[in-house]
Amino acid sequence: MGYCFTEDGMMSVWSELEKRYDIYAPKRFAGKGRFSDTDCVRYGQVHSATEIVFDKKAEYSAKEFLLPNAETLFYFTEDQILESACKEKEMLVFLRSCDLHAIKRLDAVYLEQGFIDSYYKRLRDKVKFVLMGCPKAFDTCFCVDMGTNKSTDYDMSIDKVNDKYYMDCKIEEWTELFAQSAERVQDVQPAYVTETKTHVNLPVQMPNTMLQSDLWREYDGRCIACGRCNFVCPTCTCFTMQDMYYTENGKAGERRRVWASCMVDGYADVAGGGTYRKKHGERMRYKVLHKVWDFQKKHGYPMCVGCGRCDDICPEYISFSHCVNGLKKACKEVMENE
Ligand code: SF4
Ligand code: SF4
Repeated sequence: MGYCFTEDGMMSVWSELEKRYDIYAPKRFAGKGRFSDTDCVRYGQVHSATEIVFDKKAEYSAKEFLLPNAETLFYFTEDQILESACKEKEMLVFLRSCDLHAIKRLDAVYLEQGFIDSYYKRLRDKVKFVLMGCPKAFDTCFCVDMGTNKSTDYDMSIDKVNDKYYMDCKIEEWTELFAQSAERVQDVQPAYVTETKTHVNLPVQMPNTMLQSDLWREYDGRCIACGRCNFVCPTCTCFTMQDMYYTENGKAGERRRVWASCMVDGYADVAGGGTYRKKHGERMRYKVLHKVWDFQKKHGYPMCVGCGRCDDICPEYISFSHCVNGLKKACKEVMENE
């Protein structure tokens, strides 16, 4: 059922929703941008719909609510282990279609590979998603080519048109409250884009020789292995472990898992002092092939959802979409010459 809210109607519903949920959405952080005197749009807790930024892409994705960038798993002493408590309140997370498709990728990794990650699941069970309609694509988005531009798998949807909010609500228990504060509207459909400026063509065959292709050499010099592209990516799921010791003898402390990045030094270190993928181009190859080839072979759909955040954030202006298109071209050339 659809609803049309004025600002006042939205405020009264919001205060009821906040009793049940912590609400998170893209919001503006003044002066926190990458360059001086610029703002940053990223996720934060919002206490009113007016705080939500609808017309900019959040620099970071919504994955931090399911996979915190540093999460304490348990506390230990010499002879005891105490599992960390889970956040008590439920969460309502506003996100766009590509990011909702990214949640499907996280679920595949953490819930559907023959093992259920209990730390992921306990947060996942607390989250409801509000799909933010996308009336137009941002410059680096390529969601249409990745098939992630449209989503129906939401709990609620929201579109802001002028000073009105149009919402679809699939959660039965909220429909009465919504009806009291809004005008009922037939057939509310969240907006979605059908065209993007950026296009990506995925390879359909992968010759083995692509592993040694010169294509990757460009990134040996250009990439500085900062890992930003991984941290903003809604589908990067790797973490590493850190033990924090409270005492000098190391017998009391906590174990955390923290985000890891396949692009940075140390990620592929192994026992005995070895390291895989020393060259930055080799790391780029590993990341790109995982996003558009290996994951697809295993799950039937690519890992990348085409949000374009990695292109937006790279300090060296390295474009993932450009690289994928170069990969497709190089694969085609190899196949034609075989
Ligand atoms: S690889 Fe880049 S475009 Fe694809 S989902 Fe990750 S951040 Fe978005
Ligand atoms: S953000 Fe750019 S420079 Fe940094 S690791 Fe990724 S590709 Fe390399």
